[in-house]
Amino acid sequence: MSVTLDLSRVSGAVPATKPLINLSGLTRPQMIAALTESGVAEHGKAKMRATQVFRWIHHRGVTDFSMMTDVAKETRARLAEVFTIARPEIIERQVSKDGTRKWLIRMAPGIEVEAVYIPSVGRAGALCVSSQVGCTLNCSFCHTGTQALVRNLTAAEIVAQVQVAKDDLAEWPSDKDDRLLSNIVFMGMGEPLYNMGSSACTPPTIPCATCWCR
Ligand code: SF4
Repeated sequence: MSVTLDLSRVSGAVPATKPLINLSGLTRPQMIAALTESGVAEHGKAKMRATQVFRWIHHRGVTDFSMMTDVAKETRARLAEVFTIARPEIIERQVSKDGTRKWLIRMAPGIEVEAVYIPSVGRAGALCVSSQVGCTLNCSFCHTGTQALVRNLTAAEIVAQVQVAKDDLAEWPSDKDDRLLSNIVFMGMGEPLYNMGSSACTPPTIPCATCWCR
């Protein structure tokens, strides 16, 4: 005889919690929609609220809603209940004599990518970001090409690489005239156009012969 236990009815069982939405990966229109749909901002105020939050995230680089001092306290508390703007974990940081900096960043369990800042590239310096974990291509000169594709990075995970670099370079607020980071290149792990393709092709609509999401 088999017995099935209904754990959902056990007193004290931890209720499943909804994952927090990372606001760093949203465009401004997406943020307006997210604030409205979550009930954090009324329809008429969502645009203004999104502009404030967007600026705090991408201009000031804050990592905690409590730092958004022009947003009402109750709204900040509500934002923290539904959303996140936390940074991912930095596993390793290396700095070379020539000023090159490299970060190994853990986005989620088993999802680790590298971002590299190279000085004196472009107007001031370039950040090389990853778009995928692993890669489907096998370029002969590339170590990543020997690794299987795990998954595409989300927009928030790609933006997080820029945020980590700007934290480390002390580049907030982002309009500093003498900033060290002036260019961003998608030359880390992965082929960025395949990342775009997968979101456009879920379910697959374009049967590109080379694409993993077919
Ligand atoms: S990460 Fe870039 S260079 Fe390396 S295998 Fe993929 S596409 Fe080629």
